[in-house]
Amino acid sequence: MKGKKDDLELIVHGVIRNLLGYSQNALADIQKPVILITHTLSPSDIIIIPRQNVLGLATEVGGKTSHVGIFASALGIPSVVGIKGLTAKINTGDQVIVDGTNGHIITNPSKESLKHYKVKQVEHKKYEEKLLVNIEKPAITSDNFRVKLLANIESTHEIKVLKKYGAEGIGLYRTEFLYLSSQNSPSENDLYSNFKHAVQEIAPHSIVIRTLDIGMDKHLAFLGSSDEENPALGLRGIRMSLANPDHFINQIRAILRASLYGNVKIMYPMISDAQEIIQANSLLEDVKEEMKSKKIPFNENIQIGAMIETPSAALCSDQILKEVDFISIGTNDLIQYLLAVDRMNEQVAHLYQPYNPAILRTLRSIFDNAQAVGKKVSVCGEIGGDTLATLFLLGLGNIDSLSMDPHSIPHVKKIINQSSIKDAKQFTKQLLKLNSTDEINCFLIDEMRKRYPLDFQENPI
Ligand code: PEP
Ligand code: MG
Repeated sequence: MKGKKDDLELIVHGVIRNLLGYSQNALADIQKPVILITHTLSPSDIIIIPRQNVLGLATEVGGKTSHVGIFASALGIPSVVGIKGLTAKINTGDQVIVDGTNGHIITNPSKESLKHYKVKQVEHKKYEEKLLVNIEKPAITSDNFRVKLLANIESTHEIKVLKKYGAEGIGLYRTEFLYLSSQNSPSENDLYSNFKHAVQEIAPHSIVIRTLDIGMDKHLAFLGSSDEENPALGLRGIRMSLANPDHFINQIRAILRASLYGNVKIMYPMISDAQEIIQANSLLEDVKEEMKSKKIPFNENIQIGAMIETPSAALCSDQILKEVDFISIGTNDLIQYLLAVDRMNEQVAHLYQPYNPAILRTLRSIFDNAQAVGKKVSVCGEIGGDTLATLFLLGLGNIDSLSMDPHSIPHVKKIINQSSIKDAKQFTKQLLKLNSTDEINCFLIDEMRKRYPLDFQENPI
């Protein structure tokens, strides 16, 4: 029941609203353009929403990197998440402005406000259109350093969209949504056909398929998870997979079978130490042996990666790097665990500070460890798509790729194309000397505005 907490809350909320006399429309029935104000959104809601009719979205639940926040950005519509009491304040028929850039919701705006936002909207559209001109071009600095810009996806439906934004592959396929949107555990064949489709669609580019990251805010009834007091620290990600090897093996088999059709990589989530990778790799080797004995073809040289998203993995990334071909930094969780701030709790959202000195130092040390052994490092948390972080990440020296919500790709590319590694390294060095989050935030905004004035105005044009 605990695992279904969100669903129950949604029902309770719906019943109360109905009793109070508010209308409760089904999401699938939205037939004219609206702004959607809702308590939360589940994976199945996302699938049925008629996107073309949803002009904006605001939810009560979640932080920017909660799964609701990630869905909202994947939809590619202006959205704001985590505003408490929102549904009680706004009624059907109200005029609402969703300012996704600054995280504001304006109800029944004044004439001046409406005028101001209409101008902003036109300018924003022009800016976005200009960005799309460069989608075929690579992200490359003026001193010839190339960074691959990849997409994070939650479902294969997103693959068409990511091409439109110039993604050069998929750096993170969050496979758990495939499970969350179905009642039963998908079979090996279901998984295989989904993965094969994704691999073929994105070919000749590569795809990183992440094994199940169930736990924390994503629960599966058929895995019997969830009676946990502290799910973020519980049976999550690779821990869940190692505790339920049958599901893990199913997934691995399906990925290996799909690996024949393109460039596929496997990535393990929520790794805390090298031991877990050794265990997971041993299961992987067993599956490979079994498939060979049954003459089922697959790519024997498939690359293996680990997400670095726990403090212990970050501190021991040198040990982890020995067991994998590449690492990808999951800053969403890394920030949560390093700062001890729940990424989904809107009450502590103000403490969830990506540019805390502890985060920057940790990133520095992970990059140094990867550089020492010449292995590839990528960033797939939200920081990867935040243009405020782009120069800093470039300055860490050896970034292979950044993986992000595809809508952010043209923005990040524009910054990279206007930068040089020489300047970025200097910038990063200076940033790492600062003593507080406030100092870092001010420095970041000031310096980025100076260097890229058109991209860091309040109203980008
Ligand atoms: C992360 O933690 O940064 C990440 C990319 O994974 P997720 O958001 O799915 O936890
Ligand atoms: Mg994560």
